Amino acid sequence: MAKRDYYEVLGVSRHAGQDEIKKAYRNLARKWHPDSNRDDPEAQEKFKEINEAYEVLRDPDRRQRYDHFGHEAAQGQGGYSTQGGFDSPFGDIFESFFGGGMGQRRHGPQRGRDLAYELDITLEEAATGVEREISIPRWEECDHCEGTGSEPPEKPVTCPTCGGSGQIQMEQQTLLGRMVTARTCPKCDGTGKVIYNPCRECGSEGRVQRTREKEIKIPAGVDTGIRLRIPGEGEAGERGGPPGDLYIVIRVKKHPVFQRQRDDILVDRSIAFTQAALGTTIIVPTLDGEAELRIPEGTQSGRILRMRGKGMPRLRGSGRGDQHVVIKVETPMKLTEKERDLLKQLARLRKEDVSEDRGFFRKVKDAFSG
Ligand SMILES: [Zn+2]
Ligand SMILES: [Zn+2]
Repeated sequence: MAKRDYYEVLGVSRHAGQDEIKKAYRNLARKWHPDSNRDDPEAQEKFKEINEAYEVLRDPDRRQRYDHFGHEAAQGQGGYSTQGGFDSPFGDIFESFFGGGMGQRRHGPQRGRDLAYELDITLEEAATGVEREISIPRWEECDHCEGTGSEPPEKPVTCPTCGGSGQIQMEQQTLLGRMVTARTCPKCDGTGKVIYNPCRECGSEGRVQRTREKEIKIPAGVDTGIRLRIPGEGEAGERGGPPGDLYIVIRVKKHPVFQRQRDDILVDRSIAFTQAALGTTIIVPTLDGEAELRIPEGTQSGRILRMRGKGMPRLRGSGRGDQHVVIKVETPMKLTEKERDLLKQLARLRKEDVSEDRGFFRKVKDAFSG
């Protein structure tokens, strides 16, 4: 199913401020909360959609990426579900609803986000393959503290409140009796570690934002929509998690002459009616430069001639597609006196009626008045 526009999901305009977005989210989340829509199977999907939209639009960086590149760029290929649950302004409501498990996942080691980069290339570049340098803004592990977030040589220490589990258990009196609930440890925010002396480079984040120049190789034969995965080149993970992947999303620009159909190339070519009738050899453009094409005697307008192996290289597998040349036979628009005479002679020879001012109806009339 195609993703809906995030602004549409939240019912706000593209220029909505953070307060407006937050308000819209709260109202919708309350309305579609699975807890109060137990009989509606769609509610959960809806609720997820609302949360996903909010996750992106509340974060200026992700919102900007979404505005420019769409869902994939904002989300990363890993998708929303791998981002580790909802982070909502409801706070405690969610904690109790989803239980401690959610908190744990959120605060444990987390894989870095996948990044998507849209790259425009020409058809010629797609045909030969190309190397490009791209710059990717991303979070990377902090060199100074080696990702620990603690100013060296100190290391984060085990949280004294929860003993490193990231959770604390509480007994509560409820309508159903006494219940033990687990919740995120407030001292370490669920990480199980406490940093007493934050890293001066990253301020306990363990990661820093950097723009990297990266040389990438685009293989021959790629087409629009092809995604190239570069493992480990996404954003750094959090709290010891592995990095995400970088995806290069290819967009091949339209070509003024060549039209692509998968591995084949389509080209239109006009020839004169004499060439069509008598046959000839013409020069046609191909991806490899100009090439000769034999036009057989008696070629009709609209005929498609194949040039084997002159198409795009196959991305998977070997060899190349074909080039198809669509022939258009042109009728001359202006004739000299001499040309007109020659054509009339030809017409008489072929018994083709070309009388200019004796059209069909005129002839019929003549026959009657005969
Ligand atoms: Zn650091
Ligand atoms: Zn703790």
